[in-house]
Amino acid sequence: MVVVDTPQRMQEIANKLKREGKSIGFVPTMGYLHEGHLSLVREARKHNDTVVVSIFVNPLQFAPNEDLDRYPRDFKRDEQLLENEQVDYLFYPTVENMYPQGFQSFVEVEKLTKPLEGRSRPTHFRGVTTVVLKLFNIVKPDKAYFGKKDAQQLLVIKRMVEDLNLDIDVVGMPIVREEDGLALSSRNKYLNEEERKQAVCLYKALLRAKELIETGVEESKKIIEEMEKAIKQYELAKIDYISINRLSDLEELQKIEKNNTLVSLAVFIGNTRLIDNMWF
Ligand code: AMP
Repeated sequence: MVVVDTPQRMQEIANKLKREGKSIGFVPTMGYLHEGHLSLVREARKHNDTVVVSIFVNPLQFAPNEDLDRYPRDFKRDEQLLENEQVDYLFYPTVENMYPQGFQSFVEVEKLTKPLEGRSRPTHFRGVTTVVLKLFNIVKPDKAYFGKKDAQQLLVIKRMVEDLNLDIDVVGMPIVREEDGLALSSRNKYLNEEERKQAVCLYKALLRAKELIETGVEESKKIIEEMEKAIKQYELAKIDYISINRLSDLEELQKIEKNNTLVSLAVFIGNTRLIDNMWF
């Protein structure tokens, strides 16, 4: 595996691969890798000649009050994990290289970024779409892999790709979970022992929603109330939002729509904000 640390060099490599007719599969990450990230890498490995993974903790997608400075990092470990997965190129740029002095261009997806995560984190998706478009232009992937864990992010990226005619196949992959159901996340590292135990409440609430939907309950209000009850069993949990939205446009739903419904939530466990979701 080759580690590439400048956009210019990565672009030269991508151009050469294209000339040689090699397909490029790309997995963008912020590092501190876990099995969720690696599931995307394995899928990319299966379907492409060349696999590129990026590690970049993107300052643009963090608000000033968020955890940019303490976001977990372990480059050596990440490098080894990716080497083990037979990744070809690890793109690992610096903030200065990605946003040199004078940088002033941004990408905004409008409506889809307003509800859910966008309500709690109003500048977040502008940072995400801007960095992802830059990464796409640098890495020139044929296919790019994203987790359903960040459901709104996946939908926003798909929208951007369609709206801006990017010739990239965006692939959404299932959420990888711990044995007790907690969705893997780099931020789980912030949890102490008791918080870690209680963090399972997000999944428990989603299971409750699933149970209700499977027994024919359609009313969002009823489902959300039951999810709130499930979370309130856990004293360290504080709900940011629980929401039921149409998958295609993220409009809030009064009633479940078959095969087109996203049930999602964000919950603080102590000071750590966790998100999770299920697709119905
Ligand atoms: P991050 O490093 O948190 O920006 O995540 C990089 C990619 O990994 C994103 O597409 C995430 O949605 C995906 N991802 C993170 N956690 C999981 C998980 N538990 N299961 C599947 N994909 C995940």
